[in-house]
Amino acid sequence: MTVPLDDFLGGLYRTFGPPKAMGESAPASDRPHFFLHRNFLGEQDLAILFNTKRCRYQCKFCALPFKSSREWIPKEGVLAQFRYVLEEDKHALGVLERVTIANEGSVFDQTTFPADALIQITAATRKLPRVRKIVLESRLEFLRAEQLKEIAQNSGKQLDILTGFETLDEDLRERVLGKREPLDVFLRGLDVVAEADCELTAYVLFKPDPVMTDEEAWAEAESSIDYLHEHCAARGIPLTIRLNPMYVAHDTQWARRAEKVENYQPPQLSDIITLAERKRAQGIAVYLGLTSEGLSDEDKTYRAREDFTRQLLKQGIVMNGDGSVSSRHHLLPLVEAGDPTPEPLLESK
Ligand code: SF4
Repeated sequence: MTVPLDDFLGGLYRTFGPPKAMGESAPASDRPHFFLHRNFLGEQDLAILFNTKRCRYQCKFCALPFKSSREWIPKEGVLAQFRYVLEEDKHALGVLERVTIANEGSVFDQTTFPADALIQITAATRKLPRVRKIVLESRLEFLRAEQLKEIAQNSGKQLDILTGFETLDEDLRERVLGKREPLDVFLRGLDVVAEADCELTAYVLFKPDPVMTDEEAWAEAESSIDYLHEHCAARGIPLTIRLNPMYVAHDTQWARRAEKVENYQPPQLSDIITLAERKRAQGIAVYLGLTSEGLSDEDKTYRAREDFTRQLLKQGIVMNGDGSVSSRHHLLPLVEAGDPTPEPLLESK
């Protein structure tokens, strides 16, 4: 019997649209872990999670390395993954405005992502004339200004470095998160981002320590966003924040820490939305990390809190599709916090 049309369409949407499942390992070395053609802050983005050798770090809160290969995946495999995604998305290539390249780690770590594959993939995007920006995920210590400039020149695109900042608290960074990236190392990386004329997209964690109250989590996340704003603005780096409500990732040291906290509560989505709205009203581009990437149980995420509703989630999804605040707004004077008339938003440079 033929499947009713609305069921058919609903099934396609769930399988290939924004609700597409993440978290599974790629089935072969010529397939990526994940890709999605999505609306990102008002732009058409093709996001690809390449399947490469796993990240060499073991941050205490992160389960991503577990799903990646222990073995080196050569250039040919990585290029085959890119070709596969292009084939899958071929009817929509003409509308793409951004390409996001990630590998559950650092694409500039040449011991995991073959350097020549990265050069070829980024240079090939020159064939997509509407694409304005390439987003590359990496820890900042792997960045080299000369290499970034070469990629920008060969592709003809603006580069945006996507990185996990997480928190400005040195103690939380080391003791609770195990980042092994002191703030001075991060700031030296920012100098390279500026030297190469790149933009920055940074993850900030909401409630990076399970012992935090909701109020402490709010204050800490806001301070982290303000710190990033200050240091990026001083260097003229356009900034976008991804505000990530902390979730308990399976089998991590952070999960064991959370288990020991009596009445541990994940963050509230309403707090995250309100903080994002507040920072947007000041002129800082913020979007929300609404997915736990298939690495957590629902009852260990914001969905377990009493404020959670489908309507609230929808509000967050709509915010993520809204391009009303650009990464360059924050380079102009910010609107005062609490200003009752923050509109109209500042013009882009
Ligand atoms: S947070 Fe980043 S650097 Fe740390 S283990 Fe996860 S992927 Fe690696």
